[in-house]
Amino acid sequence: MSSKRLALYILLITTFVACSSAPVITNTTSCDSIPEGALRLIEAYPDHVVDYKNNMIVFSDGSQMIYDDGKKRTIDQMHLEQDIEEIFYQDYDKGVYPPPYGYDPGRYRCAAFFGKIYGNTREEVVKNLVVVDWCPRHGGKPVLFTSVAGAAEALKRVSDELDQHPELKEWVLNAQTFNWRTIQGMTRLSPHGYGIAIDLEAHRSHYWKWTYPRAKEHAQMKYHNTFNMKVVEIFERHGFIWGGRWYHFDTMHFEYRPEMNMPEYMVGVSKPKVITAEKPDPKLEREFYYRVFKEDKRCSSEEQLRAEFYSRVFRTTYHE
Ligand SMILES: [Zn+2]
Repeated sequence: MSSKRLALYILLITTFVACSSAPVITNTTSCDSIPEGALRLIEAYPDHVVDYKNNMIVFSDGSQMIYDDGKKRTIDQMHLEQDIEEIFYQDYDKGVYPPPYGYDPGRYRCAAFFGKIYGNTREEVVKNLVVVDWCPRHGGKPVLFTSVAGAAEALKRVSDELDQHPELKEWVLNAQTFNWRTIQGMTRLSPHGYGIAIDLEAHRSHYWKWTYPRAKEHAQMKYHNTFNMKVVEIFERHGFIWGGRWYHFDTMHFEYRPEMNMPEYMVGVSKPKVITAEKPDPKLEREFYYRVFKEDKRCSSEEQLRAEFYSRVFRTTYHE
């Protein structure tokens, strides 16, 4: 276990113990609980995100970025500006299919955060691009991907696995990755601009703006997908999210987003030994996470909060 990861667990355990065993603690130290999103960032980007303190994400170079700016944005506003907290506006849930109205997990990207991780200019991003030999057995061509945060390594793992399935060749040969451009119809940089996204077989895919050229963001649309689900399953196992899980479907699109969908091999590595060894009372633990969650969402009714917490948050708590 890396020292950073160990530090994270200790921090979590300490916070948990401090919060959950209040009756036996006599001092009045305030409990600076860590939002689950911040924990996920520390786990997913361990070389970049090292800590969370007083609502700030702390980076390995010592710089800090605000986690929750306190603004309540509408969907439209979130497409223009986001804080880090809003990356986690919706959970990426592989059990939700087809995606219901407005379900776009991972589509809200905090530009300041991703710029910090992958580069804020074309030059900064390009410096980190490496060549990944994409599906050589199928006859694929090398593609450019960022080496930052294990993205290229994850893509290579995907490629190795796809290469073992001759029947998938027709779904993977045409691949587009790095492209310094904005998202169609928006002013924000596309994830292709960071070198973390790959589009496959565009000509046999569905994109909501191609299917409904005049549709606006809030339009009612019918979902379309004919993409191969075995390919999807392989990508998702390695930390990618799929645009076919979005109401605003983009079925050719795969994006490396370990904070939304932790790669399986990292989950294995990060099985929290500390927590397993001294497993806290599950009831107290749930109560602790519920308190953290409740602080974030003060305005909903207690009943709604409980329902939302159990269906969305606790189920995905990282050490469950
Ligand atoms: Zn794409």
